[in-house]
Amino acid sequence: MVIWVRLENMKCPSCPNEGTYTWMCAEDGNPTYVNELGVIECQGSAHTGPVINWRWNCGSSKHNGQFLPGDYESFGYAISQAVQLSGKAESQWLSSLILAIGKQYGR
Ligand SMILES: [Zn+2]
Ligand SMILES: [Zn+2]
Repeated sequence: MVIWVRLENMKCPSCPNEGTYTWMCAEDGNPTYVNELGVIECQGSAHTGPVINWRWNCGSSKHNGQFLPGDYESFGYAISQAVQLSGKAESQWLSSLILAIGKQYGR
């Protein structure tokens, strides 16, 4: 069963900024979600793709206005922390997600 978890209270996977954010789709401003298969989608499903293809911009000066890719460790850390704090997903969901993104990044 695929479970979608909203990307919120989550650190930026692209820069060392300590802030946490509610992540919205850059194209339409809709909330974004991730499932345990490592797929990110915005509400309404207009934009979707694997974590490795997603681009991030938390607005910090490190981005210089650019949307940047996230690396395996940074995304894994950010989503783990967000999910554990919210209690929104079980550890099995998180393990599946980490495994799925590991495959995307060739781990
Ligand atoms: Zn969208
Ligand atoms: Zn950032």
